[in-house]
Amino acid sequence: MNIAQNHNLKNKVVVVTGAGGVLCAFLAKELAKTKAKIALLDLNLEAAQKIADEISSEGGVAKAYQTNVLELDNIKAVRDQITADLGTCDILINGAGGNNPKATTDNEFHEVDLPENTKSFFELDKGGIEFVFNLNYLGTLLPTQVFAKDMIGKEGANIVNISSMNAFTPLTKIPAYSGAKAAISNFTQWLAVYFSKVGIRCNAIAPGFLVSNQNRGLLFDSEGNPTARANKILTNTPMGRFGEPEELLGALLFLVDSQYSSFVNGVIIPVDGGFSAYSGV
Ligand code: NAD
Repeated sequence: MNIAQNHNLKNKVVVVTGAGGVLCAFLAKELAKTKAKIALLDLNLEAAQKIADEISSEGGVAKAYQTNVLELDNIKAVRDQITADLGTCDILINGAGGNNPKATTDNEFHEVDLPENTKSFFELDKGGIEFVFNLNYLGTLLPTQVFAKDMIGKEGANIVNISSMNAFTPLTKIPAYSGAKAAISNFTQWLAVYFSKVGIRCNAIAPGFLVSNQNRGLLFDSEGNPTARANKILTNTPMGRFGEPEELLGALLFLVDSQYSSFVNGVIIPVDGGFSAYSGV
């Protein structure tokens, strides 16, 4: 895919959280082809460093920073380091996020006489639910508090959050993740309005079903065959397949490049093969 080269973000500093993960690692590598300077933030420094090295070896500019998006002081220290290394942030991509098994029910529907040891809604762990809400919602809000301050008044400044299909209609089994992503979509609109007078646009991408670390266990059994849940997803995706991380790129480039989207503010773009448009009938 060679579409990033058509965009020129030379001298822009792009901060990507969750940049060691499947989706944001790919997106960060592609963004580097726009000549932007990429700051890769992740709890997992090794994963982020690997992507920074790959970008550098291909002639791009990138640096990795170990960051916990839930620790304000840590984010502020990383912001200071990025400012010294690359300059202040122009574009923030809040990609860190995910679900947790402790906030996931075993059953899709409640029934009487469930098999013993079924983790139903009633057994969901408060700590697991807090973990998922915090990671997705606070993990978007706190980096925005830190980096948006520097973005005020900068030409082309914008924020892209990562929402989900769950934000439109919750998926079964994952109430905390669904609620947290709904909150991300809502927060995206809130930020778009809040920063509208100071030149920072804020939008989101809502990926449909892409295969990644986060959902592999839910989609494939130990032998790599699609689970019943995966087959349900495919049935409800009019295009009849899972998405590839590459297919998020066009929407991301459109949103971050103000030459294309200078009046686009507060939208959540589904990239989902028609999933959110389909009633199943
Ligand atoms: P991933 O698990 O591969 O990557 C997430 C990254 O975030 C990891 O590298 C992890 O180390 C990092 N991270 C976790 N906690 C962190 C913290 N406290 N501070 C900093 N970094 C932290 O996930 P992915 O599939 O690439 O998903 C990326 C984003 O896209 C997430 O927000 C996810 O919810 C969203 N999303 C994914 C899909 C999908 O199908 N994969 C669909 C919809 C939305």
